[in-house]
This record gives sequence, C-alpha cells and structure tokens, in this order.
Amino acid sequence: MSKKGPLISGAPLPLAAMSSSSAKNEVNKTVHPFSRAQLEGLMTKRFFYIQAFEIYGGVAGLYDYGPMGAALQANIISAWRNHFILEEEMLELDTTIMTPYEVLKTSGHVDKFADWMCKDSKNGEIFRADHLVEGVLEARLKGDEQARAGGSAPKADVPAEKTKKKKVKAEAVKLDDAVKAEYENVLAQIDNYGGPELGQLIKKYDIRAPESGNEVSEPIEFNLMFGTNIGPTGALKGYLRPETAQGHFVNFSRLLDFNSGRVPFASAHIGKSFRNEISPRAGLLRVREFTMAEIEHFVDPLDKKHIRFDEVKDVKLSFLPKDVQQAGQTTLVEKTVGEAVSSGMVDNETLGYFLARINLYLLKIGIDPSRLRFRQHMANEMAHYASDCWDAEIQTSYGWIECVGCADRSAYDLTVHAKKTKRDLTVQKLHKEPKIYEKWVPEIERKALGPKFKKDAKAVEEAILALDQEQLASLASQLKNGPAKVPETDFEVSSPELLKIELKTIKEMVREFTPNVIEPSFGLGRIFYALLEHSFWSRAEDKDRGVLSFAPLVAPIKVLVVPISSNEKLSPLVRDVAARLRRNGIAARVDDSSATIGKRYSRNDELGTPFACTLDFASVSHGTMTLRERDTTKQLIGKIDDVIAVIKGLCEATSSWEEAEQKLEKYSGEQAA
Ligand code: AMP
Repeated sequence: MSKKGPLISGAPLPLAAMSSSSAKNEVNKTVHPFSRAQLEGLMTKRFFYIQAFEIYGGVAGLYDYGPMGAALQANIISAWRNHFILEEEMLELDTTIMTPYEVLKTSGHVDKFADWMCKDSKNGEIFRADHLVEGVLEARLKGDEQARAGGSAPKADVPAEKTKKKKVKAEAVKLDDAVKAEYENVLAQIDNYGGPELGQLIKKYDIRAPESGNEVSEPIEFNLMFGTNIGPTGALKGYLRPETAQGHFVNFSRLLDFNSGRVPFASAHIGKSFRNEISPRAGLLRVREFTMAEIEHFVDPLDKKHIRFDEVKDVKLSFLPKDVQQAGQTTLVEKTVGEAVSSGMVDNETLGYFLARINLYLLKIGIDPSRLRFRQHMANEMAHYASDCWDAEIQTSYGWIECVGCADRSAYDLTVHAKKTKRDLTVQKLHKEPKIYEKWVPEIERKALGPKFKKDAKAVEEAILALDQEQLASLASQLKNGPAKVPETDFEVSSPELLKIELKTIKEMVREFTPNVIEPSFGLGRIFYALLEHSFWSRAEDKDRGVLSFAPLVAPIKVLVVPISSNEKLSPLVRDVAARLRRNGIAARVDDSSATIGKRYSRNDELGTPFACTLDFASVSHGTMTLRERDTTKQLIGKIDDVIAVIKGLCEATSSWEEAEQKLEKYSGEQAA
C-alpha cells in the first residue's frame, strides 16, 4: 500500500450533506412507529429480496435479491470499494470459494469453527445454545417488567433480539430482585460463554425448549462449514469457504512480492462465504450464504502505528469495552479514536484507524450514527485466531447486530500456514544499523549422519534444526563430555563426527518477521438490512405507504423521470432526458404509467429514489423541467441542462440541496414545468 494520496477523495461534502437532502431534518420521520412487518411487506412486494426457492417452499437462511436489492447491494459494494480499496490503495483479490480440507484444518476452522447447539429432548428441535439461554432469560425479564407494571399486561412476544433466537412468549411473572440482577449479568456476557457454561446455565435456570416446554440436551459442538468433494473421485475433500481471509493468507508471499517486499500493506476481497448456521431465523441477518468484504492489513508486529492515524484521531466513537460488559453493564463510553488508543483501550493505532474508517463508511452510506457502537470482544468470545477484536454493531428492531468484525489476528494464520507448507511467509526488513550478536549454530555432518541413522537420518536432522538457542547451548556443553541425546528424541549423536555446535558472532543486516494482521470483516447483507431499517419511515398522511430515504450514493435508482401525461408528444423528450441522465452515469427510471403524478411519486419513494424530474408540454416548448426531492417533496425548476447538472452534483455528493436551491428556482406549481 502506498502512503501517498488523499485519504478521503471525491467526498468534499460533510457527511450530513450526503443524504438526498441536508434539509431532511425538516421532515418528521418518526410520526409512525417503525414496523418491521411493513418493511418486510415492502421488500417482498417490490422484490428487493425474497427467500430463495420460494416456489418450492423456500430454504431457511438462503435469499435471492431482486432488481432493487441487487442494485442497492451493488451500490453498497461500490461505495465500499471506493472508500477502502481505492482510497487506501489496497490490493484486491478474487480467490476461490472451494477450499481444500488441509487449508482449513491448518487454519483451525476444521477443529474450532463451531457453535454450541442443543436439542429438544422429545421432539428433536434444534437450538443454538447461547440464543436459547438469551431468549428465555430476556423473556423472563420482559415478563417481570410486565408484572411490575401491574401484572395485567397482555403476554407479549420478546423480539428475537440480537437476531439469534426464536420468539419466546413473555409471561407476566415477577422475579426476585437478586434473580433479575443475575439474569442481567448473564445477558451482558452471553457471548463469553462456552458450551459447558451454557449447559450449567440451562440447568441452573431450568431453561427449556420455548414452545414444547421439554428439557433440552447438553450443548454439543456443531461445525459451521459446508463440506464437499473436489473432483470425481472424492479423494480431495474440501469446504465452501466460511470467510475469504484464507485466500489472502495462502497468497501472502505473492502479495508481498507485488508490494516490493514491504509492509504495511493491505489486501481486500469481496465475495461469498458460507456458514451452515444452526437455526437461521432473522431474515438477512443470519444466513447460510452471504457476501463478505474483508481486508487483511499486514503490519510489522513491533510497529502497529498507522501513517494516516492523524487524519482520523479526532473521530468520536461510541465504545462498549470488555470490562464494562464483564461488570454486567452496557453503558457506552464516548471517546475520540485518539483517546481510545492513547489510553490503551484500543490496542494499537492500526486497529483504531480501521474502527474510525469503518465508522466513516457506515455513515457515508446512511447508517444512523446514534444507532452505531463499537463493542469489544471478551476474552472467551474471541475467535481462535484473534488477540483483540471490536465489532461495529448497528441497532435494529432485532437489537444490536454485529455488522463488521475488526480483529487483530496477530501472526496466527501466516505462522500456521508457513509451518504446514514449509513455505517462507516472512518479511525481511533492513536494519538501519547492522545488528551484532552471538548465536549457537549447529553444523551437521550429513555424510556421516546418513550411514549412521539410515532411514531416520532426515528425522534426526529436522530435530536438530528445530532446537532453540537454549537447547543448542545445553547440547553443546553435553557433547564436550561425549555422545548425547538430541533433546525430545532418542537419537544419540557425537561431536565432532556427526554434529558441531559453535557460538558464532552474527552480523545481521535484515530482520525477519511474520507480519501481524489487522482484519476488518464486513457482512454486507447485515449492513444492507440495517440500512433498510434506518432508512424506512412513512409520511404522517400516508401511514401505509413507506418511504426509503436512501442517500443518492446507494439508492438503486437516482432519478425518476415522469411525463405529466401519456401524450405521445412528450415521449421523445422523456426518452432523451432519461438517456442524458444515464450517459452521465445516473441511474434513471421512467414511469409513464397512467397513474396520477402523486401516485407515481409515492411508488418511487417506496424504492428510495431520491429525485424526480417532471416533464410537461412547457418542457417541450421552453426546455424546462422540475426537480423534486423525495424526503421534503420540495420542488425546483430550471432549464433541463441546468437541472441535470444539479442532479449530477447531488448524486456525486459534490453539492448540496441548499446549493441546488441557489442554482434553480423554487417551483410554485404555476411556472411551466
Ligand atoms: P466473523 O468472521 O464471524 O467475525 O463474521 C464477519 C462478519 O460477517 C460479521 O460481522 C457479520 O457481519 C457477517 N456474518 C457472519 N455470519 C453471518 C451470517 N450467518 N449471516 C450474515 N452475515 C454474517
């Protein structure tokens, strides 16, 4: 990665100006409470996305995206590519989904990429153990709340918070204060429990299958990878990748070479990953096939500073550190990234840098900053490869959802792959001054070793070469008194016939090290869904028809082109305006149906189209058209060329609605449109 160039190019406007209208605060978007059912209805009706194989009854955890969903996703990806890959000169990869067994065995996924599940003892229904405990305890707390509020409140469904659980009926039963505190404590650290602890909690709190009331089995581990065979013989076993990361690690030496042997640099990959989730029950939030965007930033373990840290150090984030959670609390700590790193709360500058960049990206695409927090992993919760980890969590009607994981994977992956493949996955860095030190160096007499140990000669050699300095020093001193055993083996060697070990003065010109990896890992489907919830509202006067307030940057269609009537005289101009918009790279859609203008506007508000251009007969004679802004429904009027130029500026976020108001006239309804 080069260190030159601007960090945030092509984004001269402040974030607030990047939504379709910086006048958006004029509109009250919370007149009607958010309704997930209404949003889901809209998603299906306008084919944003749908459960896959719907006509065959559907498959849990698999979704197809329709035209609007696919375009929204493509725009989220394109914004990601610009924000990360282009702005930071990352090295983009596209690696295979099919991954041989050996790679994932080495990375630890075959043994450890698992969740805990338990079974209804009678009907065999399967639950993810942590989600079951969480769901039942939350329902009991909800029931307690109802009982304290008078006891007569109707039973309510506890939302399947944190996406994970089946809905559990909350019964209005008052809890003892101490029990209530215990439950809250357990819930604050739910992600920190392993299978045995979850088993104990299930017993201690008599947690049963929510619907049947039956007891559940002890939690057992379930590996989340989909297995497959590569090739017709079945001899090469493999898996569909559960993350894209391994594709970066196995290609590390080529990436390093491409980057002229220097670190830091980052590789990036956007692609599908697969996880056989135990019970996917929360729409797009927990699926079995999903698009991930992952960055692997390779750094010197002795220098995790980031060259651009100064540019983000004043970005303020809401943190939920691990000690707060372990104390059973969820109070957020507001700090700048600079303060978070200097106080040691966030381990190093590079990790802090990426937390700030993740935050900026999420705000840029339209995530509500007041519903975004960064939660640190607790010790037991951390993935097997990670040494520190923060999740960007976004609040939705399902609770706080992990949408981006940002982990310091240390040197774990490169070390295990290098060991297994015996390939060099290290970096050589020139010392400023040569380093001079003493070192025990073994010299093996191979000509003598072969005849003496025959078929074991290779093993003896490997054992000697694997000795550390302490072992070599000790063996050297033993060999002075006669033959001695190679540590951790039964092979006896003698000196000098078979082996000489000498203390030599070394002049080291380069330092060799395995880089550490900071990994921001984005689940784009989760971000997509959170964005839908944060963008969805309905107008005071039209509760049943939703509006999606997408920023132009991500909106599937940027401009609706509407002729005032279906009169054929308007058609050539309508086609021409749409074509000119498209030639400017602006996705435009014509709605020349016979529905009223108002209806056509509101149908396209549902699709999140930020702008509409209306053409009438005066457009043909005067060359003017109107420009409508979706959220405020304000309208301006101007020459067609001027309106297109204004729209271009709005879509590229190089100018604001206020500026558009300066350039075009307010439309009163009386001017010729
Ligand atoms: P992880 O490797 O588990 O940290 O996951 C990285 C990111 O992938 C998470 O932050 C999620 O956004 C996303 N993700 C993980 N599992 C799923 C899933 N089953 N469905 C949708 N997104 C997921």
